[in-house]
Amino acid sequence: MQLTQDPHRRFNPLTREWILVSPHRALRPWQGAIEKIPVERQPEYDPTCYLCPGNSRAGGVHNPVYKSTFIFDNDFAALKPDTTPDRLDVDGKGLLVAAGEPGTCRVMCFSPRHDLTLSTMDPPDIAEVVRAWAGQFQELGARPDINHVQIFENRGAMMGASNPHPHCQIWATYSLPEAPAKELAAQSDYQRLHSTCLLCDYIALEEKQHVRIVWQNESFVALVPFWAVWPFELLICSRRHLATFLDLSIAEVSDLGNILKQVTSTYDRVFEVPFPYSMGFHQAPTDKAAHPEWHFHAHFYPPLLRSATVRKFMVGFEMLGTPQRDITPETAAERLRSLASSG
Ligand SMILES: [Zn+2]
Ligand SMILES: [Zn+2]
Ligand SMILES: [Zn+2]
Repeated sequence: MQLTQDPHRRFNPLTREWILVSPHRALRPWQGAIEKIPVERQPEYDPTCYLCPGNSRAGGVHNPVYKSTFIFDNDFAALKPDTTPDRLDVDGKGLLVAAGEPGTCRVMCFSPRHDLTLSTMDPPDIAEVVRAWAGQFQELGARPDINHVQIFENRGAMMGASNPHPHCQIWATYSLPEAPAKELAAQSDYQRLHSTCLLCDYIALEEKQHVRIVWQNESFVALVPFWAVWPFELLICSRRHLATFLDLSIAEVSDLGNILKQVTSTYDRVFEVPFPYSMGFHQAPTDKAAHPEWHFHAHFYPPLLRSATVRKFMVGFEMLGTPQRDITPETAAERLRSLASSG
């Protein structure tokens, strides 16, 4: 089997799921059409934006005239803190099962400027966002009813972001969500079996091969994982074995700001449009237990495939069987690296 030409499956050790890679379908040289689609220029301040400083939100609440980040409870929250975590199992058969889910949903604006994004903000201002994320993680994670804090950003209308104002969401939940639950089990088992950390070992292998790493600095590595599903998926890992934002040193906070800037600004150069994505941080659960197995990381899942308008859809075999990709993670990494150096 040759990874560069033969159809094959790749294993994701973090979720213990497989993906199908069909490199022979993408052997031709890069043909990504750069469609010059007009990019809507945003104003610095938009009087109709519910996230801009001083503007009113649903229910007539007024935003303060904030100067850096601004955090508030989501006006249309998917979760409510006063829910009880009761469990329902009709006739005890495990077939009609439900559980109450207490939680809190917040919104965080990255900047008072309506027209900025992580890719256009200055790294020190992104470091300020990282410090605000750490503060939220600490505050929400300390609550007895919160066992996991998910910080994530949906960027672009294609990802369902209804407002271009730079912001993310924080969903703090009673239960451990599905994706981190799979990763927790995999990391725990790996540590039990090898007495080392799954992602520490993985990063060491990637550094040896050096084909999927797009960026690195003193504290972080950004790479297209061997098992990436999305065309330009990236995984950002801390070099040091740490579990949450609270373990970051001052230098690591600023290095994280730098690598986030590099990743997002390179993304914007792939098709010369503001690149849509969902990104989020995976940190250790906040269940008050020690988590020596957990390694801090972030995932970027961008949907664009060949141009600013052609996106990858998870349909057909992917929906009913296994996710599949044509362009290999190695080719995607090469493409990102070439754009990284040109920027
Ligand atoms: Zn705004
Ligand atoms: Zn580690
Ligand atoms: Zn993860």
